[in-house]
Amino acid sequence: MLESEQGKRKYFVENGNCSNKNTTFATLSISSKLSNTTNKPLIKVKQMKVNEIMTALEAKHPGENEYLQAVREVLETIEEEYNKHPEFEAAKIVERIVEPDRIFKFRVVWVDDKGQTQVNLGYRVQYNAALGAYKGGLRFHPKVNESMLKFLGFEQIFKNSLTNLPLGGGKGGADFDPTGKSDAEIMRFCQAFVYELWRNIGPDQDSPAGDVGVGGREIGYMYGMYKKLAREHSTGALTGKSYGWGGSLMRPEATGFGAVYYVKHMVEEKGDTLEGKRVALSGFGNVAWGAAQKACEFGAKVVAISGPDGVCELPEGINAEMINYMLDMRASNRNKVQDMADKFPGKAIFTPGKKAWSVKCDIAMPCAFQNELAEEDAKMLIANGVKYVAEVSNMGCQPGAIAAFQAAKIPFGPGKAVNAGGVATSGLEICQNAGHINWTAKEVDEKLKKIMSDIYDQCVKYGKQADGTINYVKGANIAGFMRVAHAMMAQGII
Ligand code: GLU
Repeated sequence: MLESEQGKRKYFVENGNCSNKNTTFATLSISSKLSNTTNKPLIKVKQMKVNEIMTALEAKHPGENEYLQAVREVLETIEEEYNKHPEFEAAKIVERIVEPDRIFKFRVVWVDDKGQTQVNLGYRVQYNAALGAYKGGLRFHPKVNESMLKFLGFEQIFKNSLTNLPLGGGKGGADFDPTGKSDAEIMRFCQAFVYELWRNIGPDQDSPAGDVGVGGREIGYMYGMYKKLAREHSTGALTGKSYGWGGSLMRPEATGFGAVYYVKHMVEEKGDTLEGKRVALSGFGNVAWGAAQKACEFGAKVVAISGPDGVCELPEGINAEMINYMLDMRASNRNKVQDMADKFPGKAIFTPGKKAWSVKCDIAMPCAFQNELAEEDAKMLIANGVKYVAEVSNMGCQPGAIAAFQAAKIPFGPGKAVNAGGVATSGLEICQNAGHINWTAKEVDEKLKKIMSDIYDQCVKYGKQADGTINYVKGANIAGFMRVAHAMMAQGII
């Protein structure tokens, strides 16, 4: 018999063994301890079975591959733990958590520099608010669609939960391609996007931030328009604002810095150090920029960065001038890593069409896009002696790649834990906005370090395996999921 308590009620499973995956139905009897009545009408509670849930979701949402991939990964790793809580299944926590609370989908119309009218699709997925107002970034990329934003929003729920801050999960964006756009075009698009969305966001409702294609400049244009429409000033309606008008120091660096703090724990867990380690990063945007800075500060050597056009190998390691130049490359909207090799001939060697994973390294950190590291890349990294892998992009590794790293016993940190420093610092920005104060960079950095260290500890607590290894994916998913599930139980069937 398996028992669990929820509020005043006591649940227990009769005629069924929760840990037996072959049991289709367990019988749940709900009795009230307070009224002292027992054997109230019996309710049949199904054991949660990932394959059944996934078959139903695949039929309901055909072709939403990223979303289905993200859901499967979470459910497979929490299944055993979840089934120890019959009250979760009685309240249909999984069926509720996999569907967003709501999705806004809207047309964004703007005029380009040639006077042509352009039409894009915008979205905001408000996924789960059990822990707080919806929180998560906006992605501007031509491949953005509902499936992509649902996967990102779903991941965001558990990532935000891991930070232990009062943040619900959400995500949004548009199929707008910033590549080659002028500053004025970016501004007009951002204004048109917020014109459609502003009534559905706000510091206590939903607080978007940046993501791929959305940085400080875009947040500035969106926040300017939001303020004008909402007549609100210096609020946390959007985060990632610049310092001086509501932004937090350290927010631009936070995702990359936080990721390296997490990796430092992974390395130290093995009695090892970051000193002298060769690090390969993909991408050259805000996240890779922060990670490169912090990795260098800890004595590691960044030997590769990459872009959609290919890889830049950096035989002597990246230096401060190159790290600064990454900002110019992002601001140019050219989206070409070759620019680094053109600027620093001999120090950065460009190879078209290759990924960062072709460069020999000790630590691989995907920092660009989902599913950017495939199984064959993982095999190449393993053959080249990689020692640690940490996803900084959301769902940066394909399932086959993760399985290959885990089979080779290479510590693998999942994105929702490794990159949580970004949203955590957004949470700190909201705190500063609400309190009308500014913390120093040192204060924010100390809080970020503590949050990353606590996230790491939670992953170890729930991910420690019988053989002593740590399954960080399982640890992050269980820790993140349980906090949300308990909050949903406490808040009733809504
Ligand atoms: N886009 C980032 C993420 O994936 C940051 C979100 C935020 O700061 O709200 O977590």
